[in-house]
Amino acid sequence: MSQIKQSSERPNSSDISSKTAIALVGGTLIDGNGGPPVKDSSVIISKGRIVDVGQVAEIQVPDMALVIDARGKYVMPGLIDVHVHYFDWMGELFLAHGVTTVKDLGNDLIWISTISSEIARGEVRAPRIFYVGNGLDAPPPARDTHVGVSNSEMCRLAVTLSQQKGATAVKVREKITPELLGAVADQAHRLGMPVTGHLRMTDAREAAQAGIDGLEHASGIVQALTRYPREIDPREDELTTFIADLKAWDLVDLDQGKHLMDFLAAKRVAIIPTLANWGRMASARRDRFAEEDAGYAARSALKYVPDMWRRIWEDSAVFRLSDNRVLAEVQKGYEKLQCLLVHYYEAGGRLLAASDTFISVPGASMQRELEMLVDAGFSELQAITMSTRDNSDFLGLSADLGTISRGKLADILVVDGNPLEDIRNTQRIHMVIKDGDVVDTNYHADYSVPTPRPAPTRPVWLESRLHS
Ligand SMILES: [Zn+2]
Repeated sequence: MSQIKQSSERPNSSDISSKTAIALVGGTLIDGNGGPPVKDSSVIISKGRIVDVGQVAEIQVPDMALVIDARGKYVMPGLIDVHVHYFDWMGELFLAHGVTTVKDLGNDLIWISTISSEIARGEVRAPRIFYVGNGLDAPPPARDTHVGVSNSEMCRLAVTLSQQKGATAVKVREKITPELLGAVADQAHRLGMPVTGHLRMTDAREAAQAGIDGLEHASGIVQALTRYPREIDPREDELTTFIADLKAWDLVDLDQGKHLMDFLAAKRVAIIPTLANWGRMASARRDRFAEEDAGYAARSALKYVPDMWRRIWEDSAVFRLSDNRVLAEVQKGYEKLQCLLVHYYEAGGRLLAASDTFISVPGASMQRELEMLVDAGFSELQAITMSTRDNSDFLGLSADLGTISRGKLADILVVDGNPLEDIRNTQRIHMVIKDGDVVDTNYHADYSVPTPRPAPTRPVWLESRLHS
C-alpha cells in the first residue's frame, strides 16, 4: 500500500505543473465537424488535450478528474478568428468572447512574434496568435508595416526571412502584380505556408492562377468582373475606399459572379469576407452594435483600452452612414456580396469567418461575424463550422485545433443557450477553456503585457536584407 499515493498527500511540483483532468459532463456537444449535435456528451481533458469524447454512457471519467456539470449547456470548440490586427490590450476581450486563437494579418513582425511566445509560455492571458509577416507589396510600400518587393528574388527572400521569424502564412497587398504574386506563392508553398491577399491591382481570377490561397475581404472579385479601378486613389481615406468597395458589388452581373465563384471554389481559393468590419454599416443590426460598443467604452474595468479606441466605440461614427442615398447603395452592393458568398459555399468553396478587428471591439466583432454569416443565408451550424474547423484547416492546424476530437488541444467554449437555434447564444458564455485550463474571462483594470506594442516602424532588419 505504501507506494500508492494518498489523495491527502501534498502534491509535488511536477504534480502541480501537470494539469488536473477535467470532465465536462452532460452538455450538448457541437464538435465543429458540422454534424448533428450530440446530447448528453462527455469531454475528458488532460494535460491540455482532449483525451476522450463521446456520449456520457460510453466515456469513463478518470477518478481524479474535476467534474464540471454541463447539463443544459452547449459545448463547442473555441472560436478562431483568422483576420485580426492585434494590439497588446486585446487579449482579455478575445477570451471573454470565446476566441481562443487568432491570426494576425499585419503587424510589426518582431513584436508579434515576441508576444506570441509570451502567450505560449503562459505569461499573458490572451488567445494564441499565429501571424503573417510584414505585408508584401509592389514598391513603394503604402504603410510602415508593408515591405516593397520588386522582383522574384526579393519575393522569395522576404517569404523565407518571414518564416524564419515565425510567420506561418504570407500576406500580399493591393499593388502586388500577378508576376510578383506568383513568385511569393511558389516560395511560400515550398515552405508549406498559405498566401492570402488584400488585392486590388491583381484580380481574384489572376491571383487564383498565380497560386493565391485566400482572398481577404473578398477582395479582387469586383475587379475581375467589372471595370472598377485597380488603383487606390491616394486622395481618398480608407473609410471612403471601403464604402466605394462595398457599393461596387452592385456593379457585378450575378451570373458572371457565380461563374467566377465556381472557378474560385474549384481552385480551392478561400474567401475571408470579414463582414463584421465595414459590412457592419450595411447591416440591419448596426444600431444595436453601436449601442453595445458604447457599453464597452463605458466599462471601468476596460479603462486600460487606449482612449482612441474607446472614443471610436463611444459613438461608432465610422460605421454610421448619415446619407441615406449612400446607405441604400452600400446595402445593394452588400446584398449581392451575400448572395455570391452563398453560391460560392454551395459550390464547395472554403468560406472562413474572421472579424478584421482593428477599430471594432475584439471578440465581440468575431461574434458579430457569426451573426452576419447567418444573416447572409448560412445556417448556424455552418457559421460555427467555418469559425472553428474550417479556419483551423486553412491555418494548417487541423491536427491540433478546430474540433472537439480526441488528441486535439482542449480549446472549448461552453455556452448557456443553443446556438443552433439562435447564433447569438454563442455570446452567452458560461466557460472558456484554453489549452485545457479554465480561462478567467473577466476584465481586469491592471491588464498589461510584458512587451507592449511599439509604434509601427519600418522593418529595417528585413529591408536591409532584401536590398543587400
Ligand atoms: Zn485587416
